[in-house]
Amino acid sequence: MRKKQVLIIFTGGTISMEKNSQTSKATIKDNRSELMDNISSELKNITLISNQFSLKPSPSITPEDMFNLAKLTQESLDNPEIDGVVITHGTDTLEESAYFLDLFLNTKKPVVFTGSMRNFSELGFDGLSNLVSSILVAAADASIGMGVLIVMNDEINSAVEVTKSHTLALDTFKSLEFGPIGIVEQENVLYYRETHYRRLNMQPINIQSAVEIVKAYSGASSLILNLLIDNGVKGIVLEALGRGNVPPMMIQGITRAIQKNIPVILTSRCPKGRVLDSYGYEGGGNHLRQIGVIFTDNLNSQKARIRLMLALGISDDLTSVKSFF
Ligand code: ASP
Repeated sequence: MRKKQVLIIFTGGTISMEKNSQTSKATIKDNRSELMDNISSELKNITLISNQFSLKPSPSITPEDMFNLAKLTQESLDNPEIDGVVITHGTDTLEESAYFLDLFLNTKKPVVFTGSMRNFSELGFDGLSNLVSSILVAAADASIGMGVLIVMNDEINSAVEVTKSHTLALDTFKSLEFGPIGIVEQENVLYYRETHYRRLNMQPINIQSAVEIVKAYSGASSLILNLLIDNGVKGIVLEALGRGNVPPMMIQGITRAIQKNIPVILTSRCPKGRVLDSYGYEGGGNHLRQIGVIFTDNLNSQKARIRLMLALGISDDLTSVKSFF
């Protein structure tokens, strides 16, 4: 039987960091060959190839990097010899890159993001076990058609649902509302539920990265919204309160943005649940719906921003943007 072939794309993050001997702080190190040497003995039935896309801490990964990573991954998956792709990434913005690829890729082949919370020189470095589990998931037939996945701490999560929930803990990646979709138990990949997200295959020629997030809080005004509009923002994601409501003082800025053809997308600062137009008071969800704000279901603001950047890359027509939410 033909061995499965998995491509590992390295982008950086703590999995590619070690402690600097002078400062004792974690810094980037090209440890690809050490990582590959350590895992290959564990995975004799899978052919591994690797590629260094970047060596960046993930706060330095830009939307343009995500776009280039998505294109490289699509090209790799179009090669019939490659059965799956694993991407190592810093955990801080991992959910954004993973969601970008989930929206972009046109494939049923498994694509798995992973990283580590401890660096190469720390006791209990979790990078090797995360990498091995991710490769097993990428090579498993059961992962075909599951969309982009995140594998850390032996849990499998969907890129649509997962978020980094803890600054330090090894089990930081959580699908807060519905839990993981599966687990890796030694060499076995086990799924317990399916997800039913629409595959959008959003592949614009360019992306629109002038998209900003504005958070609502008690007493918030339109100051930031107006500054963004005056500085040429092309799309705004509102991280609203509760069910999707904002303080009344934000309405002027929101209305002004929509009048200028700038889409305003509604998310909630609550970590779980959907936004809906339940409230009819000034600044309530129904008021926002009436002035043309676009609702997102239960996406968090950083993922809604990724989706808006891709949608605006396809067209800045508000009806077209709305069709992607
Ligand atoms: N700050 C690191 C990064 O995102 C965290 C990590 O990789 O775990 O690059």
